[in-house]
Amino acid sequence: MLEKRQFYINGAWVDPATPRDLPVIDPSTEEEVAVISLGDSADTDAAVAAANAAFPDWSQTDPADRIALVEKVLEIYERRFEEMAQAMTLEMGAPITLSREEQAPSGTGHIKGFLRSAKTFDYVRMLRDNAPNDRIIMDPIGTVAMITPWNWPMNQVTLKVIPALLTGCTMVLKPSEIAPLSSLLFTEFLDEAGVPAGVYNMVNGDGAGVGSQLSAHPGIDMVSFTGSTRAGIAISKAAADTIKRVSLELGGKGANLVFADADEEAVRRGVAHMMENTGQSCNAPSRMLVERSIYDDAVDMAREAAENTAVASAHEDGPHIGPLVSQMQWDKVQGLIQTGIDEGARLVTGGLGRPEGLNRGYFARPTIFADVTNDMTIAREEIFGPVLSMIPFDTEEDAIRIANDTVYGLTNYAQTQDPDRLVRMARKLRSGMVHLNGKSRSGGSPFGGVKQSGNGREGGVWGLEDYVEVKAVGGYPADRA
Ligand code: NAD
Repeated sequence: MLEKRQFYINGAWVDPATPRDLPVIDPSTEEEVAVISLGDSADTDAAVAAANAAFPDWSQTDPADRIALVEKVLEIYERRFEEMAQAMTLEMGAPITLSREEQAPSGTGHIKGFLRSAKTFDYVRMLRDNAPNDRIIMDPIGTVAMITPWNWPMNQVTLKVIPALLTGCTMVLKPSEIAPLSSLLFTEFLDEAGVPAGVYNMVNGDGAGVGSQLSAHPGIDMVSFTGSTRAGIAISKAAADTIKRVSLELGGKGANLVFADADEEAVRRGVAHMMENTGQSCNAPSRMLVERSIYDDAVDMAREAAENTAVASAHEDGPHIGPLVSQMQWDKVQGLIQTGIDEGARLVTGGLGRPEGLNRGYFARPTIFADVTNDMTIAREEIFGPVLSMIPFDTEEDAIRIANDTVYGLTNYAQTQDPDRLVRMARKLRSGMVHLNGKSRSGGSPFGGVKQSGNGREGGVWGLEDYVEVKAVGGYPADRA
């Protein structure tokens, strides 16, 4: 069993003020594989004090030096890539092939994307040509608290830590207590790269403890949070008294609009996307809206695709899906499948219980519900499991209305061969992101939502701007940059 009780504060690994053990459980086996400690306010205060003390010097460093440091972090990450993939497989059950092909590369991808954007980021800008004594300065916002979830651990951590480092902020990271091993490893990378003491700190803890303490802490200038809408609301309230900037990346209930003229892979692609990471993605296309003329065929195709989705241990190589992250998540998914049945949705395949042959580990059955109406619980709530809800529609207006009839607005999807309709989809779907015909966004494109999916924009130049304050200066020497 791995002993991982220490925190990283002021450039050193330190013991918790008061030990409070929490086991890390391998979701494929239900075995305890590591132990961490949950911090308390003494640990939170020490980390915030170290970050505050490091800010005056760090914020004034040359951006080129910060870029060089992040390049070193990238080199270490690439060298220790396999360790990172294994850590995520162990802590949250991403199949090792997914960890190697997507979970771990999402970290290196974001680091490279931010480096590209940072190299042309202008920290001192002219207001306009006829205002020679005005400057707009992009100041680092200060000390940032970062609170992250377990489902795409390194994706979320690098989307926060890297832009904060590059813009000259100092920080305290509190990763998910369910999946802390990847962040502990990433902290080793930062330590090895030589991040100056106090610039980056990491304290493990839960939401009620370190999470709440950071959100309300007077020494924190900004909270960058990724996780559930429930926690995002609590954090916003806790942060209000000290007027912090709160950047939120929250839940989703993405609609995938499949029109009669969609390409023939559209339904299979939609099911595969839904099942990826065992459905535990905020941007999962969890409502498939299908034009009525192809609806019955689409349901058949979705059933077949779900039945061909293999489920197995995360430690085995291959394209299968793995377990859900925890007993709690398994119980939640089972409860929502039962609610779907109770509310009258048609269970096409999958359903309650574990897949055949798997009686240990938090495995769930790839599940398709048809004839779902948009007012049913399984169309409104984020399930965060391998469960797809299929809803028929008659007209384009109908489809857009159903898609937008949700409190969420993270990613929507549309499948059609009609270019004019694609443009209408891009404009009318209310979400931070729209993917058309299975095309994802390119590197450097901002990730974020609208409505109760949050307000942050992470990645690329928008991701750097999240961490700066705009300072307006008059009377600046005209001949100085
Ligand atoms: P969660 O909200 O339970 O926990 C996320 C983090 O917040 C954890 O570190 C947790 O300890 C902390 N936390 C919980 N309550 C808190 C509180 N009151 N104050 C401060 N911190 C608190 O979410 P989760 O179960 O870890 O992750 C799944 C959720 O994350 C889903 O809703 C998913 O959609 C969302 N998510 C969103 C995005 C995005 O970019 N929009 C990406 C990934 C996941």
